[in-house]
Amino acid sequence: MKTLSGLTLNEIEQITDELGASKFRARQIHNWIYLKSAKYIDEMTDLSIKFRDELKKVATVSDVKIKVKQVSKDGTIKYLLEFPDGECVETVLMRFDNRANLTACVSSQVGCAVNCSFCATGKRGFIRNLNYKEIIEQVLTIQRDTGLKVTNVVFMGQGEPLLNLDNVLKAMEIFNESFQIGARRLTVSTSGIVPQIRKLADLDMQSTLALSLHASNHETRLKLMPIEAKYDMKELHSALKYYIDKTGRRITIEYLLIKGLNDTVEAAKQLAHYLSDIKCNINLIPYNPTEKNDYKRPDNNSIMKFKYLMEHSGKKVTVRLERGADIDAACGQLRGKVD
Ligand code: SAH
Ligand code: SF4
Repeated sequence: MKTLSGLTLNEIEQITDELGASKFRARQIHNWIYLKSAKYIDEMTDLSIKFRDELKKVATVSDVKIKVKQVSKDGTIKYLLEFPDGECVETVLMRFDNRANLTACVSSQVGCAVNCSFCATGKRGFIRNLNYKEIIEQVLTIQRDTGLKVTNVVFMGQGEPLLNLDNVLKAMEIFNESFQIGARRLTVSTSGIVPQIRKLADLDMQSTLALSLHASNHETRLKLMPIEAKYDMKELHSALKYYIDKTGRRITIEYLLIKGLNDTVEAAKQLAHYLSDIKCNINLIPYNPTEKNDYKRPDNNSIMKFKYLMEHSGKKVTVRLERGADIDAACGQLRGKVD
């Protein structure tokens, strides 16, 4: 039995060829899957009943199950999805004020090997990579469940996308071609895997690269992110410059704000200096407390002060709005609770 979700047009054509049907049928099936969010083959009403019956003998739409679904007051929906092998990942749908924009936050791995000290996902260690189909299944599941079309995708769920780069790139190609989501509406977030950042530069990636920096100096970053021991901020800096030069694109710097640790005036000054020759926007993320450590979220005054200092250095700065705080929609949090 094949699952139609995740197949490219060419792969669907192979199925229709085997069933002796025309290539046009493949295009119809493809559009039902990616653009019209069909849950069942029987919904594909522009196919004859006879052909649908033949198709049902060899294929189903999807084999992913929604294990948990939580809807927040602000409209954020968080899913825990289960793959046939029993492994689960989180996927979040965020609606920003502009209702036309629906952003899916997808996972790229089950667990994560990078093991940042503030992150619930890292605590489980690395389980396995998701293949590209499992990545796009997350968006398809959202579309099927809500009947809405996702317009933006961010790789900010569980896992380190640049440690599963082939599957992430293939998924991005399919988001582009089959979902008709433009490259500029895709964002890949990384903890800073230097050789892979250089590889994306050489590929001239036109999607947005977001770097989880989270610290203004080596010592603090090392405390938060063990990856700093392997690729430190100096190496990162030159990889980012290389990336910006090659692609011409502005990057996004993500900076988690943790009370007393990296939210001081001194830290803001160091950060401004570090980023002074990097073409970037800054996204400040107030820390979202998870149960297993004693980091705290700074108060709103400190957050605004930090924002002001960074703006003063000439950068565009946003503070990540809390989405779905009432449903544990921060990275890794739902998964942790279900265990
Ligand atoms: N591994 C990649 C992508 C997934 S993490 C990366 O680290 O960039 C997505 C974002 O969620 C990261 O910026 C991460 O720092 C953030 N995050 C993780 N735990 C968090 C928490 N408890 N509160 C707020 N943000 C968190
Ligand atoms: Fe992995 Fe990102 Fe979590 Fe770090 S923040 S452990 S890189 S998922």
